[in-house]
Amino acid sequence: MAKHQFQTEIGQLLKLMTHSLYSNKEIFLRELISNSSDALDKFNYLLLTDPKFKGEDWSGKISIKLDKEDGSITIADNGIGMNEEDLMDNLGTIAKSGTKAFMESLTGDAKKDSNLIGQFGVGFYSVFMIADNVDVISKKAGDDQAYMFSTEGTGEYEVKPVTKESHGTVIYIKLKEDEKEFLDKWRVEEVVKKYSNHIAYPIVLNYSEEETTGEDDKKETKTVQKSEQINAATALWTLPKSELKKEDYIEFYKSISHGDDDPLTYMYNKIEGANEFTTLFYIPKKAPMDMYRADYQPGVKLYVKRVFITDDDKELLPPYLRFVKGVIDSEDLPLNVSRELLQENRILANIKQNAVKRILGAIKKLDSEKMEIFTKEYNKVIKEGIYIDHVNKETLLEIVRYKSSSEEGMISLDDYISRGNSEKKEIYYIVGEDEKVLRNSPLLEAYKKANIEVLIMDDNEVDSIVTPMIGSYKEWNLKDITSIDAPDTKTKEEAEEIAKEFKSLTEKIKKVLGEEVKEVKTTSRLTQSPSCVIKDPSDPMAGMAAMFAQMGQEMPETPLILEINPEHEMIKKLDGLKDDALFDETAWILLDTAKLSEGLEPKDKAAFAQRIASLANKAL
Ligand code: ADP
Ligand code: MG
Repeated sequence: MAKHQFQTEIGQLLKLMTHSLYSNKEIFLRELISNSSDALDKFNYLLLTDPKFKGEDWSGKISIKLDKEDGSITIADNGIGMNEEDLMDNLGTIAKSGTKAFMESLTGDAKKDSNLIGQFGVGFYSVFMIADNVDVISKKAGDDQAYMFSTEGTGEYEVKPVTKESHGTVIYIKLKEDEKEFLDKWRVEEVVKKYSNHIAYPIVLNYSEEETTGEDDKKETKTVQKSEQINAATALWTLPKSELKKEDYIEFYKSISHGDDDPLTYMYNKIEGANEFTTLFYIPKKAPMDMYRADYQPGVKLYVKRVFITDDDKELLPPYLRFVKGVIDSEDLPLNVSRELLQENRILANIKQNAVKRILGAIKKLDSEKMEIFTKEYNKVIKEGIYIDHVNKETLLEIVRYKSSSEEGMISLDDYISRGNSEKKEIYYIVGEDEKVLRNSPLLEAYKKANIEVLIMDDNEVDSIVTPMIGSYKEWNLKDITSIDAPDTKTKEEAEEIAKEFKSLTEKIKKVLGEEVKEVKTTSRLTQSPSCVIKDPSDPMAGMAAMFAQMGQEMPETPLILEINPEHEMIKKLDGLKDDALFDETAWILLDTAKLSEGLEPKDKAAFAQRIASLANKAL
């Protein structure tokens, strides 16, 4: 008999389960049943593909036994089972980096936290919310020896050889003193129906009941053993649409999402013809916690003719749809399709294409309230899609939302187009880190004055890469206002006239600033600010941020052009100023304040501060 220490993280997790997560304890049933169902799926696959098991008379089953006298509940399956190593690896350690992420994302709200348990692949441990001690007796299919894994949910566990007839797993749970509600037949049935009704295998409840027979004085009470199937035991996606109600879809979602929330939306399709398959997809109301982790758990399971193939294939859907949960069941894929070849399989490629179309179609149809939730959770991954999925780019552009200079909240490109200048067909945008800085950017002044809407893109990391490569949408060209001329408030002739008038001033400023700016010129894009900086539109690097980001490199600095507002008091006064020191100071301040307004930093911050102080001093 060998005693082992739990991995440190599990030790922590166990403490958490026993002491903190006291609400929603019933989910332990959902988690154990889900594990049994997975184990049955795995054996079912072996049975059909591995000659070793050919001819075995098997039908998958989960049974739950309630023993009031003993104060225990036992959950058994005839699935794939575990050997000694599996028990230690699967239950004694956590392979996935999930646990740590789980711990970090705990909110302290017991209900929410227990909802996270299943999401992080730590479902088994939920049993310690209600158990004093647990024995897992398991025999792996094809092996001769069975093993028992026992623990009291403290720091240690034991593994020893035991005897067990057939393959599968039995989980014996000695309930804590005040968790005896789970010995009640009705309570257990209710929980199983709630979370596991559409598990594909029968769940049979074994319990005892007092039965009274006979008349008045000859009444006799005895305990009888009963056995009853308590779930529907049909995989939901095998049922015709006409038989399903909204509640059924939602119930099934709860079982596959290991959660308590309703989905935002779902889509169920059976495709017939040359290529036959069923897809059932859900979009969660909340993005999965691991959505931005490289080791995220994909949400879609692949079946072939109802036989489970994999739940760990990140390519069943494009990565930008990694928040989608559900099932793909193909009639045409070979059962023993190798995982490596799955990606090159034409049938699967076809299913995937169809799936993406349906998912995007459903997103497009969300009502405005749901769309708002969708945008909040998934706008960023949709932008990833725009960058990667050229086939569905147009649809993704219909779905993506942006902030706007014209109103609060998020708008679609179609909203923009519906009120834009349909002769010019241009969509203006500005990209940066900070919404407030962008909204107050001097570059927006002329657009505001001319009543032209500008999209405010403050998701800099993503927008600066994705937006430049959008190009156009419905024949409207997207234009970065920092690299185009301002809307013409002046005619070309007028502008040239002004440029000439201020030529000596702009030249003088350029001389002071030297290499810091590529050019200094007058502009009509400003109304309130004295100056602004723009990226040089003729610079070949300007549109290449995306390329640099893709290569994992920093974008080299593009030269800036300083534009000054000839109508501003300060510029008028500067023109003809005799005091050279003051002129230099002011020229630098024009550049540095313009940079600050765009969220850029002055080159020499200390010098900038000194100049401001000196000017303020003079003004006083
Ligand atoms: P997850 O199910 O997300 O992997 P769990 O903590 O629920 O996480 O289970 C851990 C692992 O233990 C499972 O992945 C599986 O390998 C194994 N396991 C748990 N229950 C069973 C069972 N009834 N039969 C076979 N293996 C099981
Ligand atoms: Mg599990």
